[in-house]
Order: sequence, then structure tokens, then C-alpha cells
Amino acid sequence: MAADGDVEELRALVGQLRTHLEMRGRNGLQGVVMTRTARAAVAAPVQAPVVAAAGPEAGHVHVHEHVNVHDETGDSMAPKAKTGKAGLQVVRDDLGDCKRCKLAPSRTNLVFGVGNPDAELVFVGEAPGADEDAQGEPFVGKAGQLLTKMIEAMGYTRDDVYICNVLKCRPPGNRNPEPDEVASCEPFLKRQLAAIRPRMIVALGKFAAQCLLRDDTPITRLRGGFRSYEGIPLMPTLHPAYLLRDPSKKKLAWEDLKAVNAALARVGIHPPKPPAG
Ligand code: URA
Repeated sequence: MAADGDVEELRALVGQLRTHLEMRGRNGLQGVVMTRTARAAVAAPVQAPVVAAAGPEAGHVHVHEHVNVHDETGDSMAPKAKTGKAGLQVVRDDLGDCKRCKLAPSRTNLVFGVGNPDAELVFVGEAPGADEDAQGEPFVGKAGQLLTKMIEAMGYTRDDVYICNVLKCRPPGNRNPEPDEVASCEPFLKRQLAAIRPRMIVALGKFAAQCLLRDDTPITRLRGGFRSYEGIPLMPTLHPAYLLRDPSKKKLAWEDLKAVNAALARVGIHPPKPPAG
């Protein structure tokens, strides 16, 4: 039989552990790594007489409801990364005043991304141009104005979706991104997408599509067919700048965007406004 002193000590220890885990939970702890043995020891009644004496809660650790306990074979051991606005802010903070590649000295503004941090739909372009570099916002020049019209034709506004680029800095003279620049910047794009967790990605043009899909098939052949980026459906389509150069191709891009709306509708996601025609 356990002595009264032992029961009191156990009760105090369980209380302290509970308080500690609740406090860590409020500070963002998402999980507690426990060995199988430790988990069994915590979850199982310790000693029948002690549990009986200490009350029904003594053999179990009740933690803050956001704190999950996983065993060492579980699939969710690491603290979860932040998502949405907070997650994007972490990525932006990590980018900081980026000097990781040779584009840094010539940029005016780093162009991170704009829109809804919890967007269902994300548009990924290539790199900022002169207007974007000047304003620090993606797709605000002529190609951007066309993209805005395309988004609105789908029934969304720029604020509903999220818009970003593979590169966050303008290549001088709007030349094509170079492999070392893509290699430096791409991890941040991937982290942006991981923070937003969209239901659908639209890759605008060859660079975005080839970068996200690791596929160098020409965009004219990639476009129009759904692919998968880390389990998220991705529609490669033509870049708005290309559509400005060849307006006869706009109908192809519109087909792609209608297919995106239709696929989202199949999972119950509808634009706030009815799409055009
Ligand atoms: N083209 C892009 O790919 N991105 C922009 O932000 C602007 C033009």
C-alpha cells in the first residue's frame, strides 16, 4: 500500500507536469516526444492502490487540448511549422535582406508575395519586372494587369488568392532567371507554399512550371493538364507576358483557368463571384 505521503507527492508531480505542458502548449508546443515505455507508464494506471487513492486523473496526463502526445514511431513528432500569416512571416523574416544570390545588388525591392495567406489558390510567376521591383509587389505591371483580369474573370480578386514568383528579385533587364538564382530562391517559394497550403497552384509560364514540377517539357505542352506538386494539384498555363505578345493564345489560358475553377468546384470550393462566361 502506498503511504499518504507518496500519494500526495504523486498528485503534486502530476499537477506540475500538467501545468508545465499547458504552459508549453500555450507557447506553441505541438507535440511531446515520448518513448513507448514512457507513454505506457503515463497512460496506464500506475499502481492500482495509488490511482485509487489519488483519484481517477492520477494515472493519466491531461494536457492542453492543442498538445498531442506521440510515440517514437508516430508520424508527427516534430513541432508543426507555422502556417498562414504567421508561417509566411517566418519565411519572410528568414529571407531578411537577402544577399544569397547575385541579384541582390541590383534590386530596389525584394518582392515576396501578396494576397491571402490562407488562399485556396496560389499563382506562381517567374520573377519581378521593373514595375514589381519598384513597388515591391508581384504582377503590378502590364502582365500583372492582365493577370488581375484573369483572376477576376475566374470570380476572385487579388486579395482572395496569393500571388508570388519563383525569384524574389528582378533579373537585370528582365533576362531569364539563371539556375543558381533559382537554386537560392526556390526553397523560399517552397516554404511559402507549405505555409499557405493551397488547394490548387497555377504555374504561370515555363519557369514556374518547370521549377515546381522538375520537368523541362515546353510550357506549350505542359499547359492545360493537371500535375501534382507535393500532392497539390498544379495547373501549368501560359504566362500573361506571353499572352500580351500573342493575344490569340488567351483562349488557351482561359481554358486552363476554367479547368482550375471546375476542379476546385469538385471539392466544394467556389469563387466569391460567378466566373465570366
Ligand atoms: N512577371 C512575373 O513572372 N512576375 C511578376 O511579378 C511580374 C511579371
